[in-house]
Amino acid sequence: MKYISTRQQEETNIKTAILKGLADDGGLFMPEYIPQLDSEFFENLPNLSLQEIGFRVAKEFLGESISDDNLKEIIDEVLNFEIPAVKISDNIYSLELFHGPTMAFKDVGARFMARMMSYFSEGKPMKVIAATSGDTGSAVASGFFGVQGIEVYILYPKGKVSPLQEKQLTTWGGNIKALEIDGTFDDCQALAKQILSDEELNQKFTLTSANSINIARLIPQSYYYFWAFAQLQKLEKPIVFSVPSGNFGNLTAGLFAKKMGLPVHHFVASTNENDVVPKFLETGNYEAKPSKQTISNAMDVGNPSNFERMGNLFNNDVSEFKKDIESYSFSDEETKSAMREVRKEFGYTLDPHGAVAYLGLEKYSEKSNDDFVGVLLETAHPAKFVEVVENVLKEEVTIPEKLEAFNKKEKKSVEFPVDFEAVKNYLIEEK
Ligand SMILES: *Cc1c(COP(=O)(O)O)cnc(C)c1O
Repeated sequence: MKYISTRQQEETNIKTAILKGLADDGGLFMPEYIPQLDSEFFENLPNLSLQEIGFRVAKEFLGESISDDNLKEIIDEVLNFEIPAVKISDNIYSLELFHGPTMAFKDVGARFMARMMSYFSEGKPMKVIAATSGDTGSAVASGFFGVQGIEVYILYPKGKVSPLQEKQLTTWGGNIKALEIDGTFDDCQALAKQILSDEELNQKFTLTSANSINIARLIPQSYYYFWAFAQLQKLEKPIVFSVPSGNFGNLTAGLFAKKMGLPVHHFVASTNENDVVPKFLETGNYEAKPSKQTISNAMDVGNPSNFERMGNLFNNDVSEFKKDIESYSFSDEETKSAMREVRKEFGYTLDPHGAVAYLGLEKYSEKSNDDFVGVLLETAHPAKFVEVVENVLKEEVTIPEKLEAFNKKEKKSVEFPVDFEAVKNYLIEEK
């Protein structure tokens, strides 16, 4: 299988696509075609485990670049937690993607990417650079922690992540270094870009980026769409997925699953007030905007990076998008009342991102006469957003042991002003 940049100027293999992340022409890597799974796979789906599904799907994308034994081992390590489809009401299920080590769905993609980078880099020393506004950094840190030969540098904005998020970034030690930047997330991202494109640093080190554009984060996110079917096929109803979306990696992975043959009835791309994609589906014009701050902050994205991949899948034709996707945007007030409603009526606690997905299903069912089962992707444990959830529900949220463990550890970070030369010197001198 070849991998081709969305801007068509570069063609390579999966190994290079994963180690580079971004293509030289500025595009994102896509498989040259979406592989098909055979009817036997689908007939057998309810009998397969999450790990077996992961292996079959990954194999299609990775081909001969890795042996079956090595791939199985990696998949078993990455998917060592549950992803249950939990019933909220008769027709709504929550696919809980938050049972991994940092309790957000980014664990799935980041852990797979870390294992694949480590496998393909063959022990050659490498520096991974990640700018984060919160969740990505901790999932990346957790994925790479203890991996031989790989040093991870996480750049995060001082005072702009939650106390728990900060602990999840700064308490690893070992091969994970937290750089606390006295600026905004945009400053961190700009510094990361400067590092990755600096000639001198690139001569000295093998550098790579761990942000969401890497194809190795996308592939594993398609596994759980199949896994949801494996769990819910017995209901014998069409399945609609509602995906709380920011950079649209999660949704794009779902589109991969559908193109591989999974009979998804429809997708709902649910967003907060950052509504470039819902607006695009409405008007046919894509207009990137500065991001707005909301209570579902992992989706505060004004120019979703994976839109380019979606354009590629749908030939940049809005009418093609509409065949598979509806997209709706919701305010913080609507999100809060959905959290209250679901708690009161069904006794289930949604985090703000899952609540946006719930609203998407409600809106879809108002507009459509189909009798369907709605699956919302619950992307974070409510305790990750404890301040918001407690404030909205007026009840205490129990912090799981896994998160509490971070709170007990000591923060270690190196502080920097927004100064590229200072960060660069640190990277050169730090061994
Ligand atoms: C990153 C994130 C999202 C958005 O996922 P995309 O793939 O960027 O669309 C949603 N919810 C949570 C909790 C996240 O961390």
